[in-house]
Amino acid sequence: MNKTSRTPRFLSAAAGIALFALAACAPDASQSLVSDTGLNAVTTVGMIGDVIANIGGENIAVTTLMGPGVDPHLYRATAQDIQTLQNADIVFRGGLLLEGRMGEIFDRLDESVPVITMTGDIPEDRLLMLDAATNYPDPHVWFDVSLWSIGAQTVAAALTELDPANAQDYAANAAAYLEKLAALDAYVSEAVSTIPESQRLMITAHDAFNYFGRRYNIEVTGLQGISTEAEAGVQDVQNLVSLIVEREIPAIFIESSVPARTLQAVQEAAQSRGWDVNIPQELFSDAMGDAGTNEGTYIGMVIHNVATITTALGGSMPALPELLANYSDVIARAALPRQ
Ligand SMILES: [Zn+2]
Repeated sequence: MNKTSRTPRFLSAAAGIALFALAACAPDASQSLVSDTGLNAVTTVGMIGDVIANIGGENIAVTTLMGPGVDPHLYRATAQDIQTLQNADIVFRGGLLLEGRMGEIFDRLDESVPVITMTGDIPEDRLLMLDAATNYPDPHVWFDVSLWSIGAQTVAAALTELDPANAQDYAANAAAYLEKLAALDAYVSEAVSTIPESQRLMITAHDAFNYFGRRYNIEVTGLQGISTEAEAGVQDVQNLVSLIVEREIPAIFIESSVPARTLQAVQEAAQSRGWDVNIPQELFSDAMGDAGTNEGTYIGMVIHNVATITTALGGSMPALPELLANYSDVIARAALPRQ
């Protein structure tokens, strides 16, 4: 499929109402679509929407413009998106050029609606640079759970300022959610550390996992550049195949929002050199799983990824901590072979 011709899915207000019946059955669904105060938050990617839903609780309705499988680097806002943004009480974006083609829209919007940058309070010295040439920060901060926790506090502060009458709710919700994120951060560390050291190398289709690698002590190599717009060259593929064969790396990883074909070419080239490299289930990189499933939440997407990575590279998943016990279905599903 041509990347630029993909049809982005988004929740319009009308679609949101239709989906409410589904969302109501699933406590972890990222779209909370009714609100007593009538305050509407609109955001770009699902990971941010889920944080807003967890902290906003019943006080805030959340609309997420980009659904499962959508690539935020390439996403262009539709006319309806712009209307949804203009009707919002508050707008959250990832920032750091995550929404590479929406910058002007946010600049214009900021004159009438508060636009909060979720990554805005992360200290600069904790950001990774994309490369020396551009000297611009890597936007994929959500795979370092400790950095995403800073973003969650930014969300809590923004909702409190917007709606001070419900400040106590936001404080309580944020405290409970941050406690879960702290448990998640420790759990991911523990899981990755079970991977044999020589195999602790993660090869993916684009550079979405550098924060993950730094935080959880696993080497990360992406085939494409940081943005999904760049295509991998023949030489890149050959270098990667040599690395896989020499280090006897058991698996490489594809992502839900990036076409699989380049890494399938790597797999075939390794096979022709006598090394079978597995491609397990897709990782979530820039989008979450389906609404109404645990994978359709930020915590669930991280657990899916760490379970897939750890198991495929020869580690073993530790027992989930009590606070995350209801995500065991995610680990079970991640162990299934790719369809
Ligand atoms: Zn990305």
